[in-house]
Amino acid sequence: MGASLSARVERSSSAKSRYVPRRLNVLQAILRAHFGGFAAIYERQYARGYGRFRLERITEAVTEFLRCGDYRFGVARLKCSNPACGCEMFRPFSCKTFYLCPSCSQKRTLLFAEFLSENLLLRLPHRVLTFTVPKLLRPYFRHNRTLFAELMQLINRLIVDFQSAAAGKPITGGCVLAYQSAGEFLRYHPHVHGIVLEGGFDEQGRFYHIPFGNLQNMCQVFRRRVISLFLQHKFIDCSRAASMLSWHHSGFSVDGSIGLYGRDQKAMERLAQYMARPPIAVSKVVLEERGGKVIFHTKYNPYFRENLKLFAVTDFIAELTQHIPPKGTHYIRRYGLYASRSRGTWSRKPHLVRLAGPAWHADHPAARTATSGPPQQSQQEVEASEASSTWARLIAKVYEVDPLRCSRCGAAMTVVAVIMDPVEVEKILSHLINTGRAPPGLDSYREN
Ligand SMILES: [Zn+2]
Ligand SMILES: [Zn+2]
Repeated sequence: MGASLSARVERSSSAKSRYVPRRLNVLQAILRAHFGGFAAIYERQYARGYGRFRLERITEAVTEFLRCGDYRFGVARLKCSNPACGCEMFRPFSCKTFYLCPSCSQKRTLLFAEFLSENLLLRLPHRVLTFTVPKLLRPYFRHNRTLFAELMQLINRLIVDFQSAAAGKPITGGCVLAYQSAGEFLRYHPHVHGIVLEGGFDEQGRFYHIPFGNLQNMCQVFRRRVISLFLQHKFIDCSRAASMLSWHHSGFSVDGSIGLYGRDQKAMERLAQYMARPPIAVSKVVLEERGGKVIFHTKYNPYFRENLKLFAVTDFIAELTQHIPPKGTHYIRRYGLYASRSRGTWSRKPHLVRLAGPAWHADHPAARTATSGPPQQSQQEVEASEASSTWARLIAKVYEVDPLRCSRCGAAMTVVAVIMDPVEVEKILSHLINTGRAPPGLDSYREN
């Protein structure tokens, strides 16, 4: 920030205090100090192993992350929609770089858990499945950044085929799949978690409950289909494919140990955490500034036989940023009844309306009368359906500038202006601090 700008601000608002950005978290501190050095050697040292043409995307994401929640990079002015109140506030922007920013990721996890339990999942049993592929195939996901989508499509098809075969006729189920590229210690370990409805509906709207029993069969078919996908892409040749099919320990796995019944909010949050978790928890990372090393603590891992790992700082940044998806890529996808398009037709299907969550009902008040009888809701569910404000509150947490409730009267806040001009922003911040109206994250960093 140039002296002239500060001087202008001084004059314009006769400021005694100035906004100083909140303390950085450890990842921001590492990136702020060392990203430049990393970027300078990326092509030479990391591009081959971690992917070419990635630096631009990584730089963009890191830049956004370093500005997350920092008022200096723009504020939204929110005004209470209740004319009798007229309360106003300012909010900074959040970065929403989910696979990098711990704060935005955590908010998203909360939101995702709420969405799953209150809005998306039908009131029927589900199972959590995890799909992994052998080491040999993992690097292809790094260098082909759309391959994950084909894998997810394949997994959905696999589930549909299994369920229809078990029902003896075509049935429509639903699942939410989440692709994750990070394993323990940030290493590259592409895998897919899924929340899968245990069964599906036939044309007449009859539900077939098909519990997942032994997953050995499914794993065998998963293995054959993935190998065939890799053959089609010519990533492997026929002899490699044949040898992979003959391995005793195939490296493919389908695990389904977690069952989900009913609406346990805590369980749902744990599950959301598991499916949408960021690659790393900041609490586990320490920067050793003097040695230029990053120490990374984790649970003792019997496979690696260690509970901490030391990285040279640029190696750490390479490991961390390899998990940033290409721009606009969605790693969580919904299929079958849970796909957006199918959900658009739920209100015309009484058998689904009866089983839909309270937040879905709150969004579709007319759907209830369309059913033959009122949905059998417990008192608790009725209360929850009235609480769509919870939903708004969570959205507000994630997208800090979206409508949120007025702290004085409870009415919705609307965005009346977005201020990006640094001079204007500085003026506003100084004014807020000096009039004692600084919002959280702003007041505690006075610089006199
Ligand atoms: Zn963020
Ligand atoms: Zn108000």
